[in-house]
Amino acid sequence: MLARNDNLFKKKIYKLKTLDDNIQNIVREAVEAREHAYSPYSGFKVGAAVLCADGKIYTGCNIENNSFGVGICAERCAYSKAISEGRKNFKAVVVVAYQEKYFTMPCGACRQFMSEFGNVNLYVTKPGCEEVFVSTLEEMLPFQFQTSNHSFD
Ligand SMILES: [Zn+2]
Repeated sequence: MLARNDNLFKKKIYKLKTLDDNIQNIVREAVEAREHAYSPYSGFKVGAAVLCADGKIYTGCNIENNSFGVGICAERCAYSKAISEGRKNFKAVVVVAYQEKYFTMPCGACRQFMSEFGNVNLYVTKPGCEEVFVSTLEEMLPFQFQTSNHSFD
């Protein structure tokens, strides 16, 4: 198990009710999306929601597969839905899962996937939503893989 820097971590924990109404709203949407998780193999449900620059919200859940490597995480599911409907500018992403002792951070693959579309505020919580880990994607993935600057035209 990886060690965590507890002091650094604790500085990033906020009560949900102290966060912006917009953020509280997408947190609730991510909690709801988690209920749709398809996770018969791990039993681990994850929900996500992404807030687009135009205010639209897309949700996602993890979708497992009998061929384990084929499954998709909740964050990439939400982003894919948004991108497939023409959105490429994002302001915030929420991830919700339940582990008693930990907040469930986006995996490395999702961090890279999301970083393709720029930095966003990141909120990680548990289904009860009392406390929220607040960070940014850039902070979670500095120096991401990148080959050149692309435009989205
Ligand atoms: Zn992931």
